[in-house]
Formats: sequence, C-alpha cells, structure tokens
Amino acid sequence: MDTTLCFGAGRLPDRSLVLTFDDGPGATVGMGRGPKTVELARYLADEQIEATFFMCGKHVNEHREIPQQVLSLGHRVGNHTWSHRHLPELDDESIRDEMRSTRQVLGDCGVDGPIPFRPPWGEWDARIDAAVRADEGILQEHTANYGWDLDGNDWRCWWDMGSPQECAESYLAVALQQGHGVVLMHDSTADPGTPGEEMRAGNLAVEAVKLLVPMLRAEGFTFVPLSAID
Ligand SMILES: [Zn+2]
Repeated sequence: MDTTLCFGAGRLPDRSLVLTFDDGPGATVGMGRGPKTVELARYLADEQIEATFFMCGKHVNEHREIPQQVLSLGHRVGNHTWSHRHLPELDDESIRDEMRSTRQVLGDCGVDGPIPFRPPWGEWDARIDAAVRADEGILQEHTANYGWDLDGNDWRCWWDMGSPQECAESYLAVALQQGHGVVLMHDSTADPGTPGEEMRAGNLAVEAVKLLVPMLRAEGFTFVPLSAID
C-alpha cells in the first residue's frame, strides 16, 4: 500500500472523471428513499461505468451479500474503515483495528487481493500514516490511499430531503468548474445518530446518478476507473 493520500487532479485528462461512492453498502426494500447500493451498481454497469465503492465494515457485516454483487457488476470495492470514526481522534491500535476488521469482513464476503483505502472525511496525517505503515498485513492487503477532488455535497440534499435534480446539478456545476478528477458521492451514510440517520434515510443516490450521468456525458465528460490514477 502506498499510504500517501492520492488525488485525480493532475493525473487525469480534461473531462475525465472517476466515480466513487462511500459509506455503504445498504439496501432498501421498495420504492423511495434509502440506500440502494446494488441498484446503483447495476445502473452504472449498464452504462459501462466502473465505479469504486468504499465500504464501511459495520454496514458490510449487515449486508454480507452486497460486496460480491458489486464486484460481479464490474466495480471495485474499497475499505472505508469499520465505524467511520475520525482517525485523528483514535490511538494507533484503534486506527489499525478499524482498517483490519473491515478488510477481514470484506475478505469473508469474497473480496480478494489488495484493495483501495479511503479514510473517513479524507482525514490523514503523519501520525496516522506511521501507525498504518507499522502493520505489514495492512500494507499488503491494500493498494493505495485515495482522496477525492470533486464534491457536490450530496449528503446535504439527503439531510434536507432535497431533490435528486438539485443534487445532480450541484455535481454538474463542480465538474464543469474543475474539469476532471475523482468524484465523491455516498450510496449510504455511516455516521450514527443525528444527522447520520436522517441522511441515510433520505438517500436518493440512484436517482441523482441516473440524472447526473447523462448530464455529464452531454458536456463531454467520460468516466474512467480508479485504476487510471494508480
Ligand atoms: Zn465516508
């Protein structure tokens, strides 16, 4: 694992985007709001887009079938820690536990080989880096450490029961402004309590992405896998 937090800016051609979805997986029965990771993965596969889903171990543990379904639809699965805590607030061993336990449950669900990692909120510093580098197993089981370049704050729409159109337009504006990069979206929310529960219950990522992908393509954007910035 290359522990340096890496970004897409400067590594991707103009109008190239990498789609990433954090804080899942999740499943919701029926129509309406709520996390729908597999439905999202299926839509993207139909559009020939390879996305990366950075999953939290605690959600994987409750939806053990989803990582394999996401992989079989041609996407990549990454580690986003077990419980989505702020890593700077944790001691070294707790940081390693957050990463190890998530890699373990993903492995139990059939996710093989080294996988990408993304720290919650993109929070990374020299102490966390040293704590992670002290564990040979973690280094072997992960490829690299990924941040993001483009954020349209989808969570704010889901918190406010906002519309998918509003969310898609927010991302389109940021994409047009920045031109290229790794896009951060959320197929669920991993934070407990308020407002995490509200954001998760209000999630309309599938609907927003179904609007956003054609809007971006109409502006000349293309979608490339996360491996494009390795
Ligand atoms: Zn997150």
